[in-house]
Amino acid sequence: VIYLDHAATTPLRPEVAAAMAPFAAERFGNPTGGHRLAQDARRALEEARDVVAAHLGTEPAGVIFTSGGTEADNLAVLGVARGAATVVCSAVEHPAVREACRAASDGLHEIPVDADGVVDLDALDAILGEHPDAALVSVMTANNEVGTVQPVAEVAEVVRRRAPGAVVHSDAVQAAAWLDVARATDGADLVSVSAHKLGGPKGSGALAVRHGVRLTPLLYGGGQEQGRRSGTHGVAGAVGLAAALEAVAQSRAEQSVRVAALRDRLADGLLAAVPGCTESAGRAPRLPGHCHVCVDGVENEELLVLLDGAGICASGGASCSSGALEPSHVLRAMGVPEERARGAVRFTLGHTTTGVEVDQAVAAVASAVQRLRG
Ligand code: PLP
Repeated sequence: VIYLDHAATTPLRPEVAAAMAPFAAERFGNPTGGHRLAQDARRALEEARDVVAAHLGTEPAGVIFTSGGTEADNLAVLGVARGAATVVCSAVEHPAVREACRAASDGLHEIPVDADGVVDLDALDAILGEHPDAALVSVMTANNEVGTVQPVAEVAEVVRRRAPGAVVHSDAVQAAAWLDVARATDGADLVSVSAHKLGGPKGSGALAVRHGVRLTPLLYGGGQEQGRRSGTHGVAGAVGLAAALEAVAQSRAEQSVRVAALRDRLADGLLAAVPGCTESAGRAPRLPGHCHVCVDGVENEELLVLLDGAGICASGGASCSSGALEPSHVLRAMGVPEERARGAVRFTLGHTTTGVEVDQAVAAVASAVQRLRG
């Protein structure tokens, strides 16, 4: 199998599995208790919190452990802006942000993006000029479908000027696998991450809270996480998130260069071998692992089935929980015609990807497209 779907999820890194293993066995205590096993779990949780805080650019008290990126996004949006008159998000946000914004407020304004998926700062300026009372502005650090990296610091600067009362949130779920999150989200008040996109476990994430932002909880109960997220801690998941962030940081510089070169080799190979293939967001600042293409005259679902048959795991970019592909709001916002978007395929490379795999993928796509057209 050639796995080119790292934006969907990543294989668990061995060092992360090793760090988590004791918490699925003898270190099983509940960190809120008083005895030695509880204290042992508490120590591990707080050590993980220190590591996560350092990577996300906040104080340890600013880290809220969650069940993943979706919960972190929902806590950010609904925790700040439930019932608000105005909330603002980019037109290319993940549904975890978009749908939470819709649920939070009847006054959702979307910031348009250019053809490469980069937010239009002048449009944001204009929206906030009309709505200086906006409660929240959410712009993702990098997009999950096409990989475009957003100018979060500049977004925050516009917000401070135009709507100083608004909280700035950035979903760094995809970016954290590749970028220094603290730096890439400079200026944001709230930042979401998820462990399984970085070689960590599924069902573990965090919301970083900066600048003392106050949140209304989504979950009530025993008052864990300073009352901001009740529920017995998933200690193994928190330890796994910390270990994954450490592993990414240690190999980031070398892996980013290596994987970006492989991504370019894949994109160049596809453009040369597949007639009617175009690369999306090719000129934008992008995450190193993302190669998004549209193949004219081909239905992506059919292409993905053939690729799966050839052992290549890729994705259409936007799938719902049933696995069915939905028309991509990201491509629509970028102005990609619907006809072309039907042939959208996302290949996302990761730390396990090799050059041989990339070359085999190019050959497999070329042959599958030829078969579909034939
Ligand atoms: N935000 C982005 C940008 C994502 O890509 C994803 C997952 O695909 C999520 C949020 C949701 O994260 P999780 O799967 O941890 O709930």
